[in-house]
Amino acid sequence: MRVRRIGAVVIAAAAAMAGLTACGGDSGASDKFVVGIKIDQPGLGQKQPDGSFKGFDVDVARYIAKELGYADDKIEFKEAISANRESFIQQGQVNAVIATYSITDDRKKKVSFAGPYLVTGQDILTRADDTTISGVEDLKAKKVCGAQGSSSPKRLADKFGAEWKAQYLTEQQGYGACLPLLENKQVDAISTDATILAGFAAQSPGKFRLVGQPFSEEKYGVGLKLDDKATRDKVNTAVEKMFSDGSWKKAVEANFGEFGKFFTTPPAVERY
Ligand code: GLU
Repeated sequence: MRVRRIGAVVIAAAAAMAGLTACGGDSGASDKFVVGIKIDQPGLGQKQPDGSFKGFDVDVARYIAKELGYADDKIEFKEAISANRESFIQQGQVNAVIATYSITDDRKKKVSFAGPYLVTGQDILTRADDTTISGVEDLKAKKVCGAQGSSSPKRLADKFGAEWKAQYLTEQQGYGACLPLLENKQVDAISTDATILAGFAAQSPGKFRLVGQPFSEEKYGVGLKLDDKATRDKVNTAVEKMFSDGSWKKAVEANFGEFGKFFTTPPAVERY
C-alpha cells in the first residue's frame, strides 16, 4: 500500500510539472494562450509578410483569448498543419487548435471540441478553364491533391477505394502546397472545405474555379484537451458571445469577402 501511495504521489508530481511546463514551449511562458493555427490558408489562417496572422480562425482565437482573460500580447500563434493538430493538443504544445478543424467522432476520441463556430462543406477547386469537373463523382478518374491528416482526402479515399487512392491521390503537408501542382497540371483538382478553396480562388483571380457543389458537412470546432470540460465550457460561452454581440458577423465580412454571403447565421454550439 505504502509503495503504491508513494508511486501515486510521484505520478501526481510529474503530472503537475507537466502541467506547469505545458504550452510554455521554448518561450517558457505558461501565462500565454498558445493557439495552433494554419499559416497558408487565405481568409482563415495566413501568415503575413510582417509575421502576424490574419483570417477568420485568427479572429476567433483572439476573441476567445480575450474572453478567457488573456491580453492581446499574451496570445501566441503556433503553426499547425492538418496532421499535427491532435498531437499538438495531446502533448500540451498548445492550449487550443483553431485551424479549420472539423469536429469528427474519430478525433473526439483523442481531443475535445468547443463550438462549432462555422459550418462549411467539402468542395472542389479546378483550373478555371477545366470544364470536366462539376461534382464529386467526376473525381473518380481525376488526380486530386489533399493534405495529410485531413478528413477531406480520407472522405474521397473511402468513397472511391484503395486503388483510386494509390493511383489518383497526392497528399501534401498543407493545401497551399497543392496549388502549384494544380496550376502545373500535375493534379486536376484540390478537394477540401469550400472556405479554404474560396480563399485560394480569391487570391488568384481568373486562375481557379470553385465548383460549388459541397458534399459534406464540416463543423469547425476549437480543439481542446480531451478531459478539460471546464475550459471547453468557457470557450463555448465565448463563442456564443462572439455570435451574439456582432463580432462573428464582423469577422465573416472582414475575412471572406464575396464568399461571406454563405455565412448569414452562426451555427448552434454543441455542448457536452
Ligand atoms: N476541415 C477538414 C479537416 O479538419 C479539412 C481542412 C483541414 O485539413 O484543415 O480535416
